[in-house]
Amino acid sequence: MSTITKDIVEHEAPDLFIGGEWKAPHSGRMIASIDPSTEKVWAHVAEADETDVDRAVGAARAALRGPWTQKVTASQRGAMLSKLAELLRRDAKALAMLESRDNGKPLRETLGEVQRAADWLTFFAGAADKINGDQIPFRPDALAYTRREPVGVVGAILPWNSPVSLYSWKLGPALAAGNTVVLKPAEQTPVSALALGKLIEEAGFPAGVVNIVPGFGPVAGAALVAHPGVDKISFTGEHRTAQEIMRGASVNLKRCSFECGGKSPHILFADADLDKALVVATHGAFRSTGQSCSLGSRLFAQRSIYDVVVERMAERARRIRVGMPLDANTHIGPQSSAEQLAKTNAYIALGKEQGARLVAGGGRPAGLERGYFVEPTVFADVDNRSRLAQEEVFGPVLAIIPFETEEEVIALANDVPYGLVAGLWTQDIGRAHRVAARIDAGLVSINTYRPVHWMLPYGGYKMSGLGRENGLAALDEYTEIKTVVVELATNSPADPFAD
Ligand code: NDP
Repeated sequence: MSTITKDIVEHEAPDLFIGGEWKAPHSGRMIASIDPSTEKVWAHVAEADETDVDRAVGAARAALRGPWTQKVTASQRGAMLSKLAELLRRDAKALAMLESRDNGKPLRETLGEVQRAADWLTFFAGAADKINGDQIPFRPDALAYTRREPVGVVGAILPWNSPVSLYSWKLGPALAAGNTVVLKPAEQTPVSALALGKLIEEAGFPAGVVNIVPGFGPVAGAALVAHPGVDKISFTGEHRTAQEIMRGASVNLKRCSFECGGKSPHILFADADLDKALVVATHGAFRSTGQSCSLGSRLFAQRSIYDVVVERMAERARRIRVGMPLDANTHIGPQSSAEQLAKTNAYIALGKEQGARLVAGGGRPAGLERGYFVEPTVFADVDNRSRLAQEEVFGPVLAIIPFETEEEVIALANDVPYGLVAGLWTQDIGRAHRVAARIDAGLVSINTYRPVHWMLPYGGYKMSGLGRENGLAALDEYTEIKTVVVELATNSPADPFAD
């Protein structure tokens, strides 16, 4: 067992990570984290309140004014991020175990996520010393250039669905660009963030550069949003929370970037390579037990292949192995919380009530009496205007919808409040690009689905978000542009106030 697992699990209650030290919470309160596969408390962590958040912001501001921006070079920042990536790889198994216990994802998935999180950090480590300004040919007798400076103190607010991945999406570009960070993980899944704190210490980041304060959204999250010492909020979660954050962040016009939900269209034209498309569509619809913002949760099938698609998707859904997260055979685990299970079950009931045809799942998997488990569920003949097609379930529930023409499916695909991801399958290259251009989504994939990668900008249109994560575009979200102009002319300036 590596040190992080020992420290986190064998410690009754890991403290908050503030200013490079492990500090007891001001209130003395603890958060109990529940293992969703057993419904039992498996870990306790310290709970941050407004006072703790204020201390963390103070530490982050002090670090910003101190060596982090004054002495540490961009290349050294990159080297620290590289070291952190190396430590994640070293401790991948232990971290994956923590994550699987905390949020219920199977080990095969969390292990991949930790390894990919390391790749994410490696990408931004390499970018740290390539964040240049420009020289602008403003006038022959002036020197004009831009500097790209860190935004300042970043409040990073995380959801519970993919904690380790999302830490790396935010920490990578924020630290590469020279910001300092106060990280608030979701109260349901705080453990892996504190494990990360151990690795941040070991990677050699100066005290206060990263601070970790698990706590409840309306208390610790809201305190971070309202704090005048925070310059930017980077948030992933529900769009209603993002709206509340936007209102709170107006206090000092904080920069905001949001990655919210989706109801993504996955479109199968009649000429699609169905064998490949259905493998990908199954993963797209049920990965992470449906707890993904980029789920292909609306599957559009052209009328001539519709019946085959319904039949084969139902059959594929029934074959998915739902089970205990630490079992190597498990394809998908439980939902992460009792609330999310209740939400998923409510949408399944709604689908039945609103006349959609249930062709797979819809209940609790046999043999799993405890834990927040639900069967992969497929509804056919779903009306695109129904709530099942319009609202994000965040569970393993697929809606299959028929269409006739290209024009019709573009209209249906866009007829939702979201616009995060879309996928389409066709052999017709002209149609592929025509449709890709007309779909309102931040990422459109052709003959594949959701290629989320550190090199590819990712983010949403409409209610799916604001700004972009990943790719070099992410660095724009974490830098301010300062323009500097130097007069070079030797003659005296014309005096507009001369007599
Ligand atoms: P939330 O948006 O409520 O939570 C995300 C994060 O925001 C958590 O850390 C939460 O804290 C925090 N938060 C909550 N309220 C505030 C606030 N007023 N100010 C600052 N921070 C706050 O999402 P949920 O976890 O409740 O999930 C609800 C739904 O959101 C899901 O069913 C799904 O539809 C969607 N979702 C989308 C995600 C995505 O990846 N796009 C990820 C997660 C959820 P805490 O929870 O600790 O109280």
